[in-house]
Amino acid sequence: MLIRARCNFCDREDHVVLASIKTPLTPEPSFLVRCTGCGLVYMNPMCPVEEEKEFYAHEYYKIGEERHWHENRLSYFEQAFQRIGDSFQTGRLLDVGCGKGYFLEMARKRGWKVYGVDPSQEAVLFARNSLGLEAFAGELKDAHLESESFEVITAWNVLDHMYDPWADLQEIFRILKRGGLLGLRVLNLDFHLFLYHLSNVLGVISVGRLNLSPLVGFHPHMFSSRCIKKWLEKAGFVDIRMENSALVPGTASAVVGRVTEQFLRKLTYLLVESCYYLSLRTLVMGPSLMIFAKKP
Ligand SMILES: [Zn+2]
Repeated sequence: MLIRARCNFCDREDHVVLASIKTPLTPEPSFLVRCTGCGLVYMNPMCPVEEEKEFYAHEYYKIGEERHWHENRLSYFEQAFQRIGDSFQTGRLLDVGCGKGYFLEMARKRGWKVYGVDPSQEAVLFARNSLGLEAFAGELKDAHLESESFEVITAWNVLDHMYDPWADLQEIFRILKRGGLLGLRVLNLDFHLFLYHLSNVLGVISVGRLNLSPLVGFHPHMFSSRCIKKWLEKAGFVDIRMENSALVPGTASAVVGRVTEQFLRKLTYLLVESCYYLSLRTLVMGPSLMIFAKKP
């Protein structure tokens, strides 16, 4: 049973509908809406928090093979380490939504003292027992981490899944050291909304068997580059840098086949990167945004 949501940022209820959505978690119809007060885009009605938590606690980490999941994400993990390396060589690193801990394992090998937080008990047990990592199972706020205790905090594909992302961003700001670096990866609202409309048009004019709708990703909260920049500035972050995230292989394989998927992925990345550099690094149009910001 879905529940009516309010804007997480300004607590208003009035909104305009952008898209109708269906996910495995929401068998009933739901909508992607834009708050008329602040412009935040979110799912309404939403899954109850408990159901989403249940999914990530027990279902999500069973999907796919262990190493396969990790290998698919190596491209943006490497991209992240390059950016982190521009600011810090080593120190304390916290990964929020660490899952089974593969990113933390890579960081530890690079000399970082690492700590993870994830709502999934099963994933955290794997991180502790199989990888020997330190991690807390639960919500970030319940970990009661010390203020200004980490040089780097990362949250890959996490903020857009959170139910109270504004509070979580403020909590991250509190825990980060002065001069520390935050790294985020979120789905790019602009890209997925464009794909949603394209998919609808192709559906209407029936272009062969091509169905793009499984590629459209809508999460409980959806951020455009403008919105996430505004949030980070409001939370107190400075030196905000945004870029296209390296793409995760395989997402579209089930829809278009592996070879076509590989070709489309490379083509998409080439196009969005061309726009990025031609616009002097202002237009970030790829499927996922990679964002770095500092605490002054
Ligand atoms: Zn709002």
